[in-house]
Amino acid sequence: MATPNPELLAQLRELLGEKGVREEPHPLWPNIVLKPESTEQVSRLMKLCNEAGQAVIPWGGKTGLVDGLNETVGELGLSLERMNAIEEIDELNRTCTVQAGCILQVAAEACEEKGLLLPLDLGARGTATVGGNVATNAGGNRVIRYGMMRDMVLGLEVVLADGTVVCNLNKMLKNNAGYDLKQWFIGAEGTLGVITRVVVRLRQLPRSQNTALVACENFDSVTRLLGWLDANTAGTLSAFECMWPSFYNHVTREGSLHTPPLAHGYPFYVLVETLGSSPEEDQEKFEQVLGDALENELMVDAVIAKSQSECKALWEIRDDVMGFMALGPVALFDVSITVNHMAEFIAEVETYMNGITDSFNVTFGHVGDSNLHLILGNTNPEAFDKAHIEDTVYKLVEKYAGSVSAEHGVGLLKREHLGCTRSEVELQLMYRMKRMLDPNNILNPNKIFTADKVA
Ligand code: ZN
Repeated sequence: MATPNPELLAQLRELLGEKGVREEPHPLWPNIVLKPESTEQVSRLMKLCNEAGQAVIPWGGKTGLVDGLNETVGELGLSLERMNAIEEIDELNRTCTVQAGCILQVAAEACEEKGLLLPLDLGARGTATVGGNVATNAGGNRVIRYGMMRDMVLGLEVVLADGTVVCNLNKMLKNNAGYDLKQWFIGAEGTLGVITRVVVRLRQLPRSQNTALVACENFDSVTRLLGWLDANTAGTLSAFECMWPSFYNHVTREGSLHTPPLAHGYPFYVLVETLGSSPEEDQEKFEQVLGDALENELMVDAVIAKSQSECKALWEIRDDVMGFMALGPVALFDVSITVNHMAEFIAEVETYMNGITDSFNVTFGHVGDSNLHLILGNTNPEAFDKAHIEDTVYKLVEKYAGSVSAEHGVGLLKREHLGCTRSEVELQLMYRMKRMLDPNNILNPNKIFTADKVA
């Protein structure tokens, strides 16, 4: 790897001070990390790096899943961890303005104290930063109700590759005055600009939470149940998380951490949840809607959480993903497939995997968001052919006009498969945007697509 030129490093040290230029050795990520404490410093350091042709990788909590931070050409790291202030919670306009390095959970808890909800919720909430969530357009558990990060961002401050500060800390839901520039940077994985401040749209904090685990006899009833719940819960449906038996039976097997709330043997298990405003009425309504669904044969069994701890236990089953990594080497997938094609897609993946000796395949996902997660592996490491599995699955994604990335982004991991999802015309437009905003290709180069595409 190339080392940054000493003259530039000296200038950066002078600009940022000792605390602002740190050596943090790591086998994959840049070893020298810049830690500015203001937008002004970000602007000035970007100007210096741009003039020197020095590449940088902006990062947040480093909780991504697509190798979006790996060093490829001797980059400097750029961490906004010192820029972590909650600048304002505006109760009247229902917005929260934070610096990009603010931890998601810290921001969410501060909003909660004011009776307001910052709706993004994901497993890495205690480490991930709001800026990183914006740069990756994070999804998570409640997308069906509140959308992805993109749907919560009202305003952004971004520093461009040449140091120009683009500040629009808009708080208004409606603002059609010209191009919506913030959208260029949301989900761009730090390749078009450095996000420094964010205005997040807040919602009313829910006062009731109703959760159940239900069993369905076939995928058709899973999709009909989704429509039924959506139609009968007055916009309060906040999760519809489907687990195939490959997931559920393993996570709740004998000797595991969980007691199975529903017996093994059903073809599908779905965690459903509503968030509402009147605890007693909502609970009654929830039980009634599920009862009707049972009567109409949209599901065959259900268990409703009766307490906060029962609710937590159901969510812990859904979130217990890491155990599968111990079964053997795996390929992880985060794909989108429209609901009408999901059953066929899964069937084809299963047929393919069943043809491989000692293989295992696990499926779960946010069916309400058209997002599936697959864990495909082999208990015999020598028989595991990751590249073949990835090629096969992404070809199927292409066949069903799905997306190779639903919520994790592209980074390095999915770069070669982007063409399964995006047309040549779209890719060319992306390259043009990259050339315009970052002509020296210094912002997280080689991520999403290779540097030669924009040379
Ligand atoms: Zn997910």
